[in-house]
Amino acid sequence: MANHLQHELDKNEWEINIIDEREEHHYQPGYLFLPFDIYEPEDIVKSIKEFIPKGVRLLTDKIEKIDAANNVVQMKNGDHLHYEILIIATGAKIAPEEVEGMKGAEWQKSVFDFYTFEGSLALRNKLREWEGGRLLVHITEMPIKCPVAPLEFAFLADSFFKHKHMRDKVEITYVTPLSGAFTKPKATEALDHLLQEKNINIESDFAIAEVDNENKKIIDYGGREIPFDLLVTVPTNKGDELMERSGLGDELNYVPTHKATLQSLKYKNIFVLGDASNIPASKAGSVAHFEAEILTENILLFIKGEPLKEEFDGHANCFIETGNGKALLIDFNYTHEPVEGTFPFPGIGPMRLLKESRMNHMGKLAFKWIYWNVLLKGTHIPFVSATMQEAGKNFA
Ligand SMILES: Cc1cc2nc3c(=O)[nH]c(=O)nc-3n(C[C@H](O)[C@H](O)[C@H](O)COP(=O)(O)OP(=O)(O)OC[C@H]3O[C@@H](n4cnc5c(N)ncnc54)[C@H](O)[C@@H]3O)c2cc1C
Repeated sequence: MANHLQHELDKNEWEINIIDEREEHHYQPGYLFLPFDIYEPEDIVKSIKEFIPKGVRLLTDKIEKIDAANNVVQMKNGDHLHYEILIIATGAKIAPEEVEGMKGAEWQKSVFDFYTFEGSLALRNKLREWEGGRLLVHITEMPIKCPVAPLEFAFLADSFFKHKHMRDKVEITYVTPLSGAFTKPKATEALDHLLQEKNINIESDFAIAEVDNENKKIIDYGGREIPFDLLVTVPTNKGDELMERSGLGDELNYVPTHKATLQSLKYKNIFVLGDASNIPASKAGSVAHFEAEILTENILLFIKGEPLKEEFDGHANCFIETGNGKALLIDFNYTHEPVEGTFPFPGIGPMRLLKESRMNHMGKLAFKWIYWNVLLKGTHIPFVSATMQEAGKNFA
């Protein structure tokens, strides 16, 4: 947003500040590859400073509170910053403490997450020496960031253990609170089929109540028990606690936001970008990128006192790594579920939707470069519009 707005706003009238508590920015999709020794930590972490456009001020501090009634942000070091317009982009983070026993004695011994840098690195070290047994790949509850990432983890695990010639020593089970592999019917069908093909069991409708550390099993509210030797879980995802302290969040600390304008439902001069909002779009980097194009337009309209455009359609575009050098690609929005077809050129591709291919895998690997060099810089991706394109998709 800073990159976009820097070009659009009069420098004599506007000052852009970014406040972030961290000095480093993480390429979170890389957390998926770190446990399998595909990426190194240096592929994933870079200094935020590298990405701040000239003329924009970076303040490294934790935000304690947003006093929205007075247009003030309060920082941990005691400083205050007044704003005319606030864009909240504080993301989502894991909250393993929400499930009894999850952060118990086995945490980072046989219970791991891969949604944090630390968790992903600890899991890499574990997998390097693990001799096999029952592996559970588990989702606690929806919504989560990149809802396909746990599936990708299961597929990559299958491929990883095959390459280590120990697949027969590992039983992989995918445990989900959903009734199938994914949230949308057509993609669920394709992904359920892939799980079967790769000999990955699925336990659906599992609403976890507890991790029993002593007996190494997870238990759901109905009393169903699943034993494990290694539990790779995606804990509950929540917005930052700052929202609770500021009276701006819902029960999961996400900010109630208009799903098409990206304006806060409570304060007209607050806008929300990316995972921090409660809109029903996927929590994905691609979504934040598309939102930013539309939000820039809306902020300029807001400044002029004109009505905002209700233009954001929930467009998401995600590669799903399926192991063995292949991947799927899905492209969807609020009203259209992922279907088969070609992307970005209708009838031509070169990428195919909802079908495994090596080209899609190359796309997934290229996504790291695109993230650092295109998405973070707010550059438009050629031939990919901010709203979803219907042409090239087989909706029938
Ligand atoms: C394992 C995994 C795989 C993924 N794979 C994909 C993928 O393949 N494709 C895809 O598009 N997306 C993927 N994602 C999702 C993607 O990473 C996120 O959707 C994206 O990073 C969201 O961007 P954001 O700006 O909303 O939040 P973030 O990138 O999380 O940034 C939030 C920022 O806010 C700062 N912050 C938070 N609270 C405070 C505070 N109180 N004070 C000061 N600063 C604060 C943080 O330090 C951070 O820098 C994946 C995510 C994970 C975890």
